[in-house]
Amino acid sequence: MMTGFLLARAGVDVVVLEKHADFNRDFRGDTIHPSTLELMHELGLLDEFLRLPHQELQQLRAVMNGHPVPVADFSHLPTRCKFIAFMPQWDFLNFLASHAKQFPTFTLEMQHEVTDLIVENGRVAGVTAKTPEGERLVRGDLVIGADGRHAITHTRANFEIREFGVPIDVLWTRLSKREGDPRQTLGFFRQQRLLALLDRDDYFQVGFVIAKGSFEKIKQDGFAKFHAELVAMAPFLRDRVAELDDWSKIKLLTVQINRLRRWAREGLLCIGDSAHAMSPAGGVGINLALQDAVATANLLAAKLRAGPVSLADLDEVQKRREWPVRLIQRMQVFVHRNVVSGRPSDGASDSLPFIGRLFRWFPFLRRLPARFIGIGPRPEHIHSPSAF
Ligand SMILES: Cc1cc2nc3c(=O)[nH]c(=O)nc-3n(C[C@H](O)[C@H](O)[C@H](O)COP(=O)(O)OP(=O)(O)OC[C@H]3O[C@@H](n4cnc5c(N)ncnc54)[C@H](O)[C@@H]3O)c2cc1C
Repeated sequence: MMTGFLLARAGVDVVVLEKHADFNRDFRGDTIHPSTLELMHELGLLDEFLRLPHQELQQLRAVMNGHPVPVADFSHLPTRCKFIAFMPQWDFLNFLASHAKQFPTFTLEMQHEVTDLIVENGRVAGVTAKTPEGERLVRGDLVIGADGRHAITHTRANFEIREFGVPIDVLWTRLSKREGDPRQTLGFFRQQRLLALLDRDDYFQVGFVIAKGSFEKIKQDGFAKFHAELVAMAPFLRDRVAELDDWSKIKLLTVQINRLRRWAREGLLCIGDSAHAMSPAGGVGINLALQDAVATANLLAAKLRAGPVSLADLDEVQKRREWPVRLIQRMQVFVHRNVVSGRPSDGASDSLPFIGRLFRWFPFLRRLPARFIGIGPRPEHIHSPSAF
């Protein structure tokens, strides 16, 4: 959507195809980072954007083995907004779509599921899409595959994918909030496990990291054990874990980290999770996907206005974005293998880990994770032209 918005803004004719009828899906990650808010400012949309319902998080706090620790402080970032905004992803996408639709060059087609690539003389020349009215062919000078982790575009293009094993899955659910609950705290760490509680005003969005493939076993063991595990991580949940009384209330999300060896071939460029699926660790996947979108528009918008772009032009996008992706994925793999494996470690102590002590002793250290999460390596800025 962001790529479509920026290219249409630059005067390039764009058709965005979305397979669903709306953007309303839960647990897709609702974090809008300071770098993204900066982009909204650069586009002149920030004030209007911040009028949408959202929560603002200035500090990231963790509870490590029962000890509260501030781990990231966004108040020193060199950005206009020194916080992460939590906003349902559908509000963000609808906001972008409503602004994009003001450009005569933009078309959004919902319920258009891309089923295949059209390849002519070795070059991708468009896609076929399943629509309520039957199959449709959509042709274009360039197909941008921004279709997520299970992308049809990179599958049909036979792109080689490098998988980096991740030992975790995540269970997402909701629990009610009550008077006297602790202030916004995001992560409860204990013995290689993590329970994330995202304060969504009237409820907590709950993410529980489990060992990969262990959900069936958790179900077999039953709710009593599951509830006890949640309470062991965050004791104040004791009075409400019984709300989780049906496994249909709990959604399993399998975590993947991978990336394409090449993101492009003639007529096709993959970006976002389609080029590099991210784990939820650090909550940076949306940010990275948006940065890819900005880089794509910066590098290609003016050329696309003149006609088809070359493979060398498309490779420039990968060259620009692959380095930050590699760096963040490497850190995510490290975290999953060494810090949060989802598998409880026997005999671990209840003392505050050394890293937690460092964050407590040296407040300036909290600026590093804030910068990494809030802005990320190689932040992009809007340089693509505005034609309207
Ligand atoms: C459990 C979990 C939690 C996460 N939490 C966070 C978080 O809190 N913060 C964060 O920043 N990141 C988070 N991430 C990562 C983040 O979700 C992704 O990195 C990010 O959404 C990637 O954006 P994207 O636009 O590339 O792909 P997506 O957001 O996956 O968007 C792809 C779009 O393409 C559409 N589509 C797919 N196939 C087709 C098709 N064939 N035809 C037409 N349309 C199609 C989909 O419906 C969707 O709208 C999380 C990931 C996981 C697994």
